[in-house]
Amino acid sequence: MSSKKQASANPAEETIPAPLTNYKIQYTKIFINNEWHDSVSGKKFPVFNPANEEKICDVEEGDKADVDKAVKAARQAFQLGSPWRTMDASQRGRLLNKLADLMERDRLLLATLESVNAGKIFPNAYKMDLSTSLNMLRYFASWADKIQGRTIPIDGQFFSYTRHEPIGVCGQILPWNFPLVVLMVKIGPALCCGNTVVVKPAEQTPLTALHVASLIKEAGFPPGVVNIVPGYGPTAGAAISSHMDVDKVSFTGSTEVGKLIKEAAGKSNLKRVTLELGGKSPCIVFADADLDSAVEFAHHGVFFHQGQCCIAASRLFVEESIYNEFVQRSVERAKKYTLGNPLNPGIQQGPQIDKEQYTKILDLIESGKKEGAKLECGGGPWGEKGYFIQPTVFSNVTDEMRIAKEEIFGPVQQIMKFKTIDEVIRRANNTHYGLAAGIFTKDLDKALTISSALQAGTVWVNCYGGASAQVPFGGYKMSGNGREMGEYGLHEYTEVKTVTIKISEKNS
Ligand code: ADP
Repeated sequence: MSSKKQASANPAEETIPAPLTNYKIQYTKIFINNEWHDSVSGKKFPVFNPANEEKICDVEEGDKADVDKAVKAARQAFQLGSPWRTMDASQRGRLLNKLADLMERDRLLLATLESVNAGKIFPNAYKMDLSTSLNMLRYFASWADKIQGRTIPIDGQFFSYTRHEPIGVCGQILPWNFPLVVLMVKIGPALCCGNTVVVKPAEQTPLTALHVASLIKEAGFPPGVVNIVPGYGPTAGAAISSHMDVDKVSFTGSTEVGKLIKEAAGKSNLKRVTLELGGKSPCIVFADADLDSAVEFAHHGVFFHQGQCCIAASRLFVEESIYNEFVQRSVERAKKYTLGNPLNPGIQQGPQIDKEQYTKILDLIESGKKEGAKLECGGGPWGEKGYFIQPTVFSNVTDEMRIAKEEIFGPVQQIMKFKTIDEVIRRANNTHYGLAAGIFTKDLDKALTISSALQAGTVWVNCYGGASAQVPFGGYKMSGNGREMGEYGLHEYTEVKTVTIKISEKNS
């Protein structure tokens, strides 16, 4: 691959073209064995544009029978002696790189689909989601031929070595907030380690995954290595998590469904489980912080992608002496938003994903008003059509309010006040979640003390947000199990086998 191509995956260097206007939705079927299938039941389900509530297309609705077909294909592709199992590991890396190149070729279409189907503002879809997806694939591509075990001497007459073997057929259940990025976060490590996969995109957002399916075939992956079954959670998703011939399931979504996945794994074949779940992440701002920067990061920390991020900084703790000023600046910042169709230039906030989420967010906003938080701005729906919600800021929020405890997944900022370090550590950790946290201070000692004390899988200091392929990501407590991305993410996709060999006594 040319260095020029690589460089273009750097968001800082990119100019953003206009989204496509006359695109055609080409792929709406179930992808098994590198072929397109109708659903066994004959059913289809509608896919909507959340900005105008209009149907984009119908997609074949996968269910248990389709998952069975996909698992069979994935098992076949994983058999010893199959083209995939006998392929040189470097070639697996080349296939992943080829897939990244094809996605880069189709970048404009993928970004347009992501914007139309997931309500992402187009510049973010083009720049951030696509760059992150390409980086993710290329990062894992380069791992493919570097997955190695160890040689371990055990006593004079024996030695052991370990093999890091692929686990087998991996079920991968995706969320709707980052449909393409999370697809790459999951297939990248699974494939570079030599597994085969059955992917279920979220029912709201299957379109980019289905386009990627066509590129899987074009890239030259053997049939059955990647299978994509669109469908609903309680049907197709549950069929994956309870399947007796799926060796591992990786899920990103709500904590509630994460529990069901683990239960289904336990009740079926004890398949390995990786979960990336919800959060109620604290962001702590001390009076000595660079205020401009802290306001901006805290703002994006919660408002990015309409608040629909598992890492959303949805509990903002601000030190008492700067509280009023911080609230005032945060409100000014939140009022600057332009809402509208995410494909249009200049739009900074798009719609929530669907009516269910929209209703849930509005209900939580109402609870904040009722429970005595001070509504500083926003606080209701926006526009005539589409699932838009005004950017909302609450001050005087206290820890027992629902808006301070429950994951909102919407453009709603909660600002709390604190006095001491011990107090803020205790309050920040007083949650079932533990995905991420932020600290803003110029005092190194405070930053180190608090970053050690916080129960969170990721702690940002003087910044907030963002994901890099190289660094592990995952949650403490009920925010998940296991880690994704980085070298740590590879461990979730291999079994370690120990082989012990007796050395001939003559030579020991
Ligand atoms: P949200 O509540 O934000 O929509 P979910 O956790 O319900 O998120 O959904 C995330 C993914 O989990 C989707 O692909 C969805 O279809 C799937 N899912 C939902 N329910 C189940 C279930 N019972 N078993 C397996 N997957 C499920």
